[in-house]
Amino acid sequence: MYIIFLGAPGAGKGTQAAYLADKLRLAHAATGDLFRKVAREGTPLGETLRSYMEKGLLVPDEITIKMLLERLALPDAAGGVIFDGFPRTLVQAKALDAALAGEGKKIDRVIYLEVSPVELAARMTARWVCPVCQAPYHTITSPPKVAGRCDRCGAELVQRADDAPETVKKRLQVYFAETAPLIGYYKAQGKLVTVNGEGTVEEVEKRIASALNLVK
Ligand code: AMP
Repeated sequence: MYIIFLGAPGAGKGTQAAYLADKLRLAHAATGDLFRKVAREGTPLGETLRSYMEKGLLVPDEITIKMLLERLALPDAAGGVIFDGFPRTLVQAKALDAALAGEGKKIDRVIYLEVSPVELAARMTARWVCPVCQAPYHTITSPPKVAGRCDRCGAELVQRADDAPETVKKRLQVYFAETAPLIGYYKAQGKLVTVNGEGTVEEVEKRIASALNLVK
């Protein structure tokens, strides 16, 4: 199965994609996570990625598609993938369709997590992450057990540089201009399922399971 999570930054794609990948035993391909990992390595490519991410801009399609295709070539991707944060432009969507078609595969479902713009902005500024194991937290909906500390590894939580209010504004603008048109692209292919992304993490998990007919 090849499933895409589509939605604005802050819609909960990362949390829900990780959960679903685990549940369905599929690979989880998150371009944002890939980019942050390379950016931490401090190579010239890492610096290029960081410069786009810090401004809230999209990494150019050429770099993004190349890195995603490298990820798709890893052995764990052969049995199916949950795409999280990719594609974000029509060019990327078409490149993914072409790459899968080349292997006789296709996207099965696109889950569009719908969240209102007001809620999105509030969520992103309340978002914290563990710099060691990357576990995500939210000060209101999923706070850590001990304030400021990771439940899994105890590290001190940080905010992503691109969750700063000005960058959040830019990322939302970029989403509506460049990524939102993908909703129509996948709707026209009959692959889109729209899921209400508001409420608790567990509520959204249940809605996704029922949208994918995974509920017994
Ligand atoms: P995310 O963690 O998915 O919110 O991604 C963080 C940042 O990485 C984005 O704001 C972009 O700068 C960059 N990024 C992630 N995925 C893509 C993509 N598919 N295309 C272009 N840029 C991306």
